[in-house]
Amino acid sequence: MSDIINIAIDGPSGAGKSTLAKRLAQELNFVYVDTGAMYRTVSLYAYRKGVDKSDSETIKSLLPEIHMDMIYGEDGTQQMLLNGENVSGLIRTSEISMYTSAVSAIPEVRAFLLEQQRALGRTKSILMDGRDIGTVVLPDAQIKIYLTAAPEARAERRWKELVEKGEQITLDEVLKDVIQRDENDINRPVAPLRQAEDAVLVDTTHCDLEQSYQLLLNTIRERM
Ligand code: C5P
Repeated sequence: MSDIINIAIDGPSGAGKSTLAKRLAQELNFVYVDTGAMYRTVSLYAYRKGVDKSDSETIKSLLPEIHMDMIYGEDGTQQMLLNGENVSGLIRTSEISMYTSAVSAIPEVRAFLLEQQRALGRTKSILMDGRDIGTVVLPDAQIKIYLTAAPEARAERRWKELVEKGEQITLDEVLKDVIQRDENDINRPVAPLRQAEDAVLVDTTHCDLEQSYQLLLNTIRERM
């Protein structure tokens, strides 16, 4: 019997998944895998080549040129290496967020990342977050959580993060982006965002970060 445990956390953008998942993984001694960062890294490569985000043919043709590695800082932070270059900061802009939203709908891009993601869960206990982890990537994960919050609450959190990083963007613009990205993720034909049947729904609209963390930690501990 293997004692490997996989935890899948899915949900829309800005629900606090990455921040919470990273902390939970540290507490539980799991490896944290942020699959959004993988989609962002592929997107950055195409973006830098000047490819339009709707040009799926060209984006597909670039995939063999992309090699990505994940390394971990002492605090458990996942760093993304794109052909050896650390691009962890560069993939977090709002421009790359919107670009990624389109790129992640391309079936070949999803197939390119799927096997890499599945392989990670086979050899060690991981806590993986994304949009399709409980439904497609790790359908046999022992614990599945669908983490969500109202779009306004998610936009406000995202906006604060971006402003702190020095990006000049209004709350209204971020809300529009959040709604657009939700729509793209929910309506794409391949691996759309949805709650797995066996996932626990956690809504953090009225919770601050600490409350959300405790809620998730309790939810996971009850099931471990
Ligand atoms: O989670 P994050 O906002 O970093 O994800 C960036 C984008 O990558 C999302 O908007 C979504 O379109 C895509 N994504 C996905 N499937 C995943 C993780 C992210 O389609 N498992």
